[in-house]
Amino acid sequence: MKKYKVGIIGATGMVGQRFALLLADHPWFDVAVLAASERSAGKTYREALGSRWCMTDPAPEKLLDMVLLDADKDLEKIASQVDFVFCAVNLPKAETKALEERYAKAECPVVSNNSANRLVPDVPMVVPELNPGHIAIIPSQRKRLGTNRGFIAVKSNCSLQAYVPPLFPLHQEYGVKDVAVCTYQAISGAGKTFERWPEMIDNVIPFIGGEEEKSEVEPLKLWGTIQGDVIVPATTPHFTAQCLRVPVSDGHMGAVFVNFEKKPDRETMIEAWKNFKGRAQELDLPSAPKQFLHYFEEDDRPQTRLDRMIENGMAVSVGRLREDTLFDYKFVCLAHNTLRGAAGGGVLLAELLCAEGYMD
Ligand code: NAP
Repeated sequence: MKKYKVGIIGATGMVGQRFALLLADHPWFDVAVLAASERSAGKTYREALGSRWCMTDPAPEKLLDMVLLDADKDLEKIASQVDFVFCAVNLPKAETKALEERYAKAECPVVSNNSANRLVPDVPMVVPELNPGHIAIIPSQRKRLGTNRGFIAVKSNCSLQAYVPPLFPLHQEYGVKDVAVCTYQAISGAGKTFERWPEMIDNVIPFIGGEEEKSEVEPLKLWGTIQGDVIVPATTPHFTAQCLRVPVSDGHMGAVFVNFEKKPDRETMIEAWKNFKGRAQELDLPSAPKQFLHYFEEDDRPQTRLDRMIENGMAVSVGRLREDTLFDYKFVCLAHNTLRGAAGGGVLLAELLCAEGYMD
C-alpha cells in the first residue's frame, strides 16, 4: 500500500487531537499538514495547543514543531500538499459546508467529522461495517461538483454509532420496526473537559442542541439505497430519541427499546452480534476492530470506564438484552465518541476509501 499524505483541518480541537494521535504512526498515512483557524495559523502545533491538549496520551512529538496553516486562506496550498484531508472544525454549519466544498473543488477529497454535509443526498455518510456500498455515489457527487478527484465523505453522528450497529445485522431478517433510544453522552462530545466545563461536574443536562433530530434522521440514511445520482434514505425503522449530557469524559451510552416485524429469540440476536463482520473486517483495514460487536452477559456491563477502549475504542459494546413489557426487547450499548464516533471512524472511512481506490 502506498503512503498517502494527509492534512488535519481543525488539528487543535478535541477531535483534531484524536486525529493527531491516530495518524502520527499510521501505516498508510503521513501527516503532511496541520491547519486550524487564523488564531492558530503561523504557530507551531505546540504553541497553538498551549495548555489545550486534553488526551490521556501525550501529543505526538513528531507533530509538535509543525507550523499550522490557515484552513481558509491557505486552502490552495494545503490542497496541493496532500492527497486528502480530515476535517473537524467548529464553525457554523453553512461555513463548514462551504469550506468542505472548496477543498473538494480544489481536487482535495475531504473525510469529514462535521455534520454540515451529512444529509446532502450525494455525500456518502458511512460506517464502514454497515453501509460501505454508499461510497459508490462518489462519481455522481464529482459530476455535481465538476471535479476529477475531489469529493466529500462523512462519518455519521457519534451517538448513533453505539445504537445502530447492533440493530443493523438484525434488520434484513427480522425487520427492525420501532426504536426508542435514550443516549447518555460524554462531555468530550461537546469538545469539552471537566476543567473547561465545571457545570457538568455532578450534573446531567437534558438537552444537546440538534442531537435528537440527528439521532432520529441519520440512521435512515445509513439504511438508504443509491438511486440514480442520490442516496435515498430508508423510511423505516422509526426512531425516537432523547439525548442527555452526562458527567463522563469519553463514551456515549445508549439505552435502546426495539420492536421487530418478526421477533427473533434472544440467543439468535446474540449470535448475530457475535458473528457480524463488515467490509472493514473483510478488507482487514488497519483501524478495524477484529470483533465489531462485543456482547456482555454480565448484568452490570458495558460500563463506560471499563469498556469504552475495547479494540482501541473502535468496537461497540452491548449488554443487558432482555424482553420488555412494551417493546419486544431492550438493551444497552456503548461506543467511544471521539474514537469510533469521531476521529477513529473518520480514519476507518479513509482507509476504506483508499482500499476501494477512491483516493488515487
Ligand atoms: P473543538 O474542540 O471546539 O475544535 C474546533 C477546531 O475547529 C479547532 O481546531 C479550531 O481551531 C477549529 N476552528 C474554529 N474556527 C475555525 C475557522 N474559522 N477555520 C478553521 N478552523 C477553525 O471541536 P471538536 O469537538 O473537535 O469538534 C469538531 C467537529 O467535529 C465539530 O463539527 C463537531 O460537531 C464534530 N464532532 C465532534 C465529536 C466529539 O466527540 N467531540 C464527535 C463527532 C463529531 P483554533 O484552535 O484555531 O480555534
